[in-house]
Amino acid sequence: MFDLLIANGQVVTPTQVLAADVAIEGERIAGVFQPGTPLEARRTIDARGRYVVPGGIDAHVHFDMEFMGKSKHTFESGTIAAAFGGTTTVIDFTLDLSLQGLPPLEQFERRRRQAEGRAVVDFGFHSVISDGSDETLGQLEQLVAAGVPSFKMFTVYREAGLYVNDATLYSVMRRLREVGGIPVVHTENADIVDSCTARLLAQGRRSPADYPESRPVVAEAECIRRVMFLAKSAGVPVYIVHIAAAEAVEAVRRARAEGQPVFGETCPHYLLLTEALYRRPDGYTFIMSPPLRTEADNAALWEGLAGGWLSTVSSDDNSIDVEDKRAGLESFTRASPGCVDVETRLPLLFSAGVRAGRISLQRMVEVAATNPARIFGLYPRKGVIAPGSDADLVLIDPERRQTLSVDSLHMQVHYSPYEGWEQVGLPVVTISRGTVLVEDGAFVGPAGHGRFLERRIDLSTLRQPF
Ligand SMILES: [Zn+2]
Repeated sequence: MFDLLIANGQVVTPTQVLAADVAIEGERIAGVFQPGTPLEARRTIDARGRYVVPGGIDAHVHFDMEFMGKSKHTFESGTIAAAFGGTTTVIDFTLDLSLQGLPPLEQFERRRRQAEGRAVVDFGFHSVISDGSDETLGQLEQLVAAGVPSFKMFTVYREAGLYVNDATLYSVMRRLREVGGIPVVHTENADIVDSCTARLLAQGRRSPADYPESRPVVAEAECIRRVMFLAKSAGVPVYIVHIAAAEAVEAVRRARAEGQPVFGETCPHYLLLTEALYRRPDGYTFIMSPPLRTEADNAALWEGLAGGWLSTVSSDDNSIDVEDKRAGLESFTRASPGCVDVETRLPLLFSAGVRAGRISLQRMVEVAATNPARIFGLYPRKGVIAPGSDADLVLIDPERRQTLSVDSLHMQVHYSPYEGWEQVGLPVVTISRGTVLVEDGAFVGPAGHGRFLERRIDLSTLRQPF
């Protein structure tokens, strides 16, 4: 007698999409069976006409964060929005400006306590490293031991105190090779960004429409090459967050073709939106870094996903209050950067990716779940439908229609670049470790269901790009 049976669905496994029944015992998948196999369960969910995919893993979210404004998504509301969007695991950051100056281990412990008992889906953290002191380097091993084997570094944001120079990047990378961790890097050249910004401001050009010029493609393309070179020299794999430019995609493709383990992430907004939005009256709500770019960049990102040289799609969800965003009307330098995508990530990938013929269903599962699990030390516990894995499952109704709107989404902000977009195909049931969190359009899961995930990365599994 199983606890739960997901019957008659089209199940996406690593090798195929097949009609199958997924049986769940407790928190784990007990087996994947041919339809018609006599199975008994306490509860059966009929998945006829639906795809059954591994729960989404969003490796880049910012909940409950203080950074040029406070995010509206708490660990509770942010993870509820995630669950509605078919995401059952999030990886947040120890980033919060109110914690700056504390040792990284202390930052992690505080962030973990903020999330525990509040998050409804499982969660982990990337540790943010903003200096190369002996004390900080000395804590990397303890963080890895505590289940935090990924380390975020910023090559920009000098004023916020997050910027790290090349010496710090390189010494952290060398240390991560020894202790078993992966660097996660925001790649924009700070000198170029700062000088372009200063020139625009001196010319009195400070409107949202001027914003993209302050962070040109060259800043992203130069920095990604430099960071990949440092990682190669240090002998570590590297994960590059939120790639926006075609030139950066090409740099990643070439490095991977030479066998370097570089894992590139992009986000729904970079795949689907362009800088034309900055010229709209509400253009200030779309300020994020790097900025939105052009249709040619959108196309290169889709090609990178389909071709296999971009590895993941994350949301970079940062739910800045519209009032904090509005400061950007006066000057783009004052707008809090961020986009709200944690709920729309998987639906948009399905409708604009799979349904539109840009990526296959299996590729969607890879970039939205399997690859983040493999890169960040969660595989095969997460990211795959297989016996023994956590029963994190999402049922997608490929024909379900919805008009995206701040009124129907479950976000805590009232602006969205996708307002009014017609959506075909939606997650309709979300299950985390055998517990149904979302069904029939309602959140039905227990409060505080999410657990902290102690992650472990075996660097030998990341020697080759995948
Ligand atoms: Zn981010």
